[in-house]
Amino acid sequence: MSSRKKFIAGNWKMNKTSADGVTLVHDIVLAVGKQSDVEVVVCPPFTAIESVAKAVEGSEVKLGAQNMHFEASGAFTGEVSAPMLRALFATHVILGHSERRTIFGETDELVNKKVLAALKNQLRPIFCVGETLAERESGATLKVVQTQVERGLAGVGKDQAAGLILAYEPVWAIGTGKVATTEQAQEVHAFIRGLLTNLFSDLVAQKVRILYGGSMKPANAPELLAQKDIDGGLIGGASLEARSFVELVTAAIAAK
Ligand code: PEP
Repeated sequence: MSSRKKFIAGNWKMNKTSADGVTLVHDIVLAVGKQSDVEVVVCPPFTAIESVAKAVEGSEVKLGAQNMHFEASGAFTGEVSAPMLRALFATHVILGHSERRTIFGETDELVNKKVLAALKNQLRPIFCVGETLAERESGATLKVVQTQVERGLAGVGKDQAAGLILAYEPVWAIGTGKVATTEQAQEVHAFIRGLLTNLFSDLVAQKVRILYGGSMKPANAPELLAQKDIDGGLIGGASLEARSFVELVTAAIAAK
């Protein structure tokens, strides 16, 4: 048991129209919208943010985006900025997701600019790191994660750092049905907490929530969430149905 409040975030990716998103979040709010033992965040696509914001109003369910540009405004066709997300009452933003890194070529340097811009605009980054299968098999996991954490968080002040949320997502476990063993996940989570101690302080490291992401489901969540340094989950597939997402929140309440 730790003093950190458990945190469950749903990453809907490129799924759900605005209307479908409202239906989904309505069921989530009904089931877990009044509890505050676990922090619950849903991250719809940009097109559903405004309608989902209205649907979560007055509940404990919070709203996040899946990406943003680091500039506040300008000639960046197709992009949205932190102030635009804030204006829609988003409180969180996923940054550095492996799909952004691999499919859209986002580098550690770009992710770092976004992290700094999010913090400047009072948006809490859910900052993702994780190794590929080839990197794990070659024994490079900790080195890869260290580089991503150190580069991604460069320039973040000690006073801002406690507001960060990190997500360890082994790329080989995302959307594949393959889940890291609890030992594999706990090892990397503890390693990340050590990095946060070195970068900031032990006090900060003890406050930062580190989520696990990668095929987390109601069946495997209790064991993962019982680990000392696993403070919640970033959920893809299982966040698209109210029943499985609510079950994950319930598992986090039980593990708190
Ligand atoms: C994710 O995309 O962040 C994720 C963890 O997906 P899934 O739960 O589907 O593996």
